[in-house]
Amino acid sequence: MLRWSIATVCMGGTLETKLAAAARAGFRAIEVFENDLTFFNGRPREVRAMADDLGLEIIALQPMRDFEGMPEPARSKNFDRAERKFDLMEELGTKLLSLCSNVAEDSSGDVERSAADLAALADRAATRGFRIGYEALAWGRHVHDWMQAWELVRRADKPNLGIVLDSFHICARKNPLAPIAQIPGDRIALVQLADAPAIVMDPMSLSRHHRCFPGQGDWPMLDYLEACIAAGYTGPVSLEIFNDQFRGAPAAVIARDGMRSLQICGEQLEKARKTRGETPLYLGRALPEPAKIGGVEFIEFVTSSAHSPRLVAELEGLGFRRVAGHRSKDVDLFRQNDVNIVVNREQEGFAHSFYLVHGTSVCALALRFDDPQRALERANSLAAPTYFGRVGPGEAQIPAVAGVENSLVYFMKDSPQGRTTWDQDFNFTDSPEHPGPLKRVDHLSNVVRRSEFLSWITFYKSVLGFRDEPQVELADPYGAFFSRVISAPDGAVRIPVNIAEGGSTGVSRFIENFGGGGVQQIALATDDLFTFVEQARARGVAFLDIPGNYYEDLSARYDIDAGVIERMRALGILYDRHKGGEFFHIYTKMFDQRFFFEILERRGYDLFGAANTPIRLAAQASEQDSALQQRAMLDLD
Ligand code: MG
Repeated sequence: MLRWSIATVCMGGTLETKLAAAARAGFRAIEVFENDLTFFNGRPREVRAMADDLGLEIIALQPMRDFEGMPEPARSKNFDRAERKFDLMEELGTKLLSLCSNVAEDSSGDVERSAADLAALADRAATRGFRIGYEALAWGRHVHDWMQAWELVRRADKPNLGIVLDSFHICARKNPLAPIAQIPGDRIALVQLADAPAIVMDPMSLSRHHRCFPGQGDWPMLDYLEACIAAGYTGPVSLEIFNDQFRGAPAAVIARDGMRSLQICGEQLEKARKTRGETPLYLGRALPEPAKIGGVEFIEFVTSSAHSPRLVAELEGLGFRRVAGHRSKDVDLFRQNDVNIVVNREQEGFAHSFYLVHGTSVCALALRFDDPQRALERANSLAAPTYFGRVGPGEAQIPAVAGVENSLVYFMKDSPQGRTTWDQDFNFTDSPEHPGPLKRVDHLSNVVRRSEFLSWITFYKSVLGFRDEPQVELADPYGAFFSRVISAPDGAVRIPVNIAEGGSTGVSRFIENFGGGGVQQIALATDDLFTFVEQARARGVAFLDIPGNYYEDLSARYDIDAGVIERMRALGILYDRHKGGEFFHIYTKMFDQRFFFEILERRGYDLFGAANTPIRLAAQASEQDSALQQRAMLDLD
């Protein structure tokens, strides 16, 4: 039966930790990477016992290298080497040895000779009841495409010799996928799965540093799996990800993310089969269907009584008004049209703990779903357990799951009729609705640690049912800035997830100031940005200073009315244009070097103004530099 597996090489830590993490994430099969055995302080049979205790089948020992087509005496030595591997397999209790195509300089490309070596190896393996799987490495000296590997396997013609298919090598070489379906299924020894981003790089570097779980990259994982299934393959599908970032992360997180990505793969496979009227594969328990994401119901800030007045002044400056107070907690609700902002000053519980670590910041995000219960069940099925907070008598219990840096994502009911769950918990003032120039939440930017980037992309895509767009790279004055937008399928919620390279980049400084990843930017939409900024400035809101050169450049690049440019310059408004649409936007100054608001006006424009991100990053960097200088001057005084 088709089943999921993970190679120990995907995870960091000791072999014991890796096995336990795999089992805990729900895997029942693993591939053991030989280095893990070498580093293990014990006998291979102890690994077997550990795997047995954890309910893990060891499906393969990997890899044997540089075998076929070698001159003597290396050839004879290789057969001796193979016998040692067979001894290991005996103790490990595994039947399959995976063999990578030869990279040795002195190996021969003679097809007959290499096929004969594989046949002889298979015969030796057969006497001990073992199988050999032969895999084309994308950088193999003579064999680098799966079609060549298959040709050797076919010529060798041994029932216990099959091909190992690895999506990484196949996609890196841009090998055709559809003809895989023509390989007899019982001659496929193992199917390995690895995705990668669509970047141009030599396959070996790409393999070592950029392999990732299905759905984290850009390669056609489903087409590949469908071709393997069409071939009649029914064995394990094993994740094999060499990635230094993965090995640096806790094994439990990597195993969980691997299982999440496979569950989504399985769901997509089943869906495609159902559409074509084919029988299900029964790849584990079916996930509850994703619920429809209706939008952001509220953004929750945590602060202290001491810092609250500054936050409230910022919100009121942006046109928000306090419309309600919580019945039992030190929590206020600020509102403007459909934008709800909760300010939490509680002295205990989740929010306060979050405050102690991160200071005044966004501690929770509430999303509206058409069926929040189903959305929650889906999240639970994907290893995101429900968090229940403390509630007062008669108050609504809003379920949540943990998001970036243990912030919360609440699951609320999308109700066009009104805000029933709110009314139960809050005492509203006489006018619970508050109109104003800011109409809705446009998007929120998440900053995450580079090492956690793929993990959070998988979280948003699997647990919450978002989709992602290709990654973009931008210049930061102190390094590089990378952003990938994840969004609800119909665009109701959009979250650019950002990372950076370089210790002094805006993203790095945020992570340092904030104590981890979090919401850095809250973008709110208005229909008339110019009037809004005039009014907000009059109310004391401080916006980011934009250098005059920006406007010189703008008037050179675009045909914009000089009067409009002057007004933008006077107000600090930025501009972008795409496919006839126009975009006007502005940033508030950073709040305690942690977060800022972006106010924007879209005129038929659907991007995020990424063209202006370098300007924003440079202006924020110079703002922070002058703040540091001022502090240094004060210290000198
Ligand atoms: Mg492989």
